[in-house]
Amino acid sequence: MSAPPDGARNFVLLILDSCRFDSLVAARPRTISRLGEIQRRFSYATWTAPSHYNLLMGLLPHPAPTNVFASAWYQRDLARFEERLGITGLGFEALLPRLWLPTYLRSIGYKTRALVSMPVLNPSTPLAADFDSYESMARHNDLAAMIPRLRFSDDHPTFTLLNTGETHYPYAPPDEPESQWPRIHGVHGVFKRLGAGQLVHASEAPRFFNQDRLDQLRRRQILSIDAVDAAVEMLFDALPANTWVTITSDHGELFGEGGYFGHGPIPHRKVLEVPLVEGLLR
Ligand SMILES: [Zn+2]
Repeated sequence: MSAPPDGARNFVLLILDSCRFDSLVAARPRTISRLGEIQRRFSYATWTAPSHYNLLMGLLPHPAPTNVFASAWYQRDLARFEERLGITGLGFEALLPRLWLPTYLRSIGYKTRALVSMPVLNPSTPLAADFDSYESMARHNDLAAMIPRLRFSDDHPTFTLLNTGETHYPYAPPDEPESQWPRIHGVHGVFKRLGAGQLVHASEAPRFFNQDRLDQLRRRQILSIDAVDAAVEMLFDALPANTWVTITSDHGELFGEGGYFGHGPIPHRKVLEVPLVEGLLR
């Protein structure tokens, strides 16, 4: 393992699964906002697996730049990691040929670690490639439970990917009993099956939507952010000084817009709209 470049710092990438941009803004999270303003960005993908693949290539949600070639944007956006990591020389060419941020970071002396909550990100998937450690959490919605599992060292910087699902359906804080989770006909069975790592069948899809119920679910997503923000405060306390933290989401969530609920096979702008907040913890 090579010696890390002077000044290289820890980097934490926290993904609030399914969190809409406007949900995070409406929640007015005190601790998350300490990092900076909540920026409106767009995910490259509409659901968890391809979105995380893209994030781990080093391409974070974009601001929908106009009058720029995609390749020029990738180069400019990857160069932003120089500030995040406190290093120089990061760009498209540095990532070749694998185009995988964990591979590159290991090559310059980082440890790479991941704690994930969604079954489609489990350690058997290709997403776990070139992580020194990659674990699935026992529960889908407990960011606070990840904190004792974090590992840092004075000898090398660490890249940590965290994926947490308080903001994913059913938008439940970790202390809410499962018996109180909302039940939408069809959707709950789909969620249960996903939890068991099984495929979803079309026959299980919800058959109709009631906008009042969807509005309630949207309020639940906003309220779930209170628990996330409290856990982020514990996270900040646990992180070493001089750690760069980026908080974003992998995709948004539809609550009835255009006749859609959730995310995935949905070509709607709102499913791409996500928040991004980042900054250096001193
Ligand atoms: Zn997701």
